[in-house]
Amino acid sequence: MFLTIIMLGAPGAGKGTQAKLLSKKLGLPHISSGDIFRENIKNQTDLGKMAKTFMDQGELVPDDVTIAMIKDRLSRPDCEKGVILDGFPRTPAQAVALEEMLNDLGGQVDLVPFINVEVEVLIKRLSRRWTCRESGHIYNTEYSPPRVNRICDVDGSELYQREDDKAETVTKRIQVYRKQTAPLIEHYKNEGVLEDINGDNYIENVCRDILAVLPKKIEH
Ligand code: AMP
Repeated sequence: MFLTIIMLGAPGAGKGTQAKLLSKKLGLPHISSGDIFRENIKNQTDLGKMAKTFMDQGELVPDDVTIAMIKDRLSRPDCEKGVILDGFPRTPAQAVALEEMLNDLGGQVDLVPFINVEVEVLIKRLSRRWTCRESGHIYNTEYSPPRVNRICDVDGSELYQREDDKAETVTKRIQVYRKQTAPLIEHYKNEGVLEDINGDNYIENVCRDILAVLPKKIEH
């Protein structure tokens, strides 16, 4: 059986944090489109160079490129049993493309936790977010600061502020989310797979609430 969980929510809602926890708990790969783009930027690939021009502006990377990238990722052997998607789909066209990909894999969208957080909280979170260069560990200078200023607790690498987490771009990203991604809430509600989760809560509590709505067929 192929299981698909889609983490839905605005930038800064905590999709990545929760996806990582779920990934450990369920033994399914965490696939973050943003992380794949950042990896490509780090390695200076053509895809990375192209994606960067959109990401730095807080815009979405075009659908065709993003869809092809995720299709390739889903074809890897570690996705045999299912996936936890974080940051994809982000537009109705991506949602349709995903449904086709899942059909081919013998799967369907099983659960969409929608992590709900007020805009003011999102802005605060993103502007205080620092990310580790090596593996993307995340800190918040107010709520979960690193032990040593600007150094990752886990691997000692430098922490940096993502270009798109800077104040001007954050506002733009939230606008883009409202316009292009928020329609997916209705879409998945109509499909009967959406679960509303309060994201303005401790990390452990958000995780507990997501686990509580996992369909019974998903063992954990
Ligand atoms: P994230 O790490 O999910 O916040 O994504 C960072 C940026 O990567 C976004 O603001 C977009 O520019 C780009 N990106 C990530 N996922 C997608 C997607 N599914 N479609 C288009 N652009 C994306």
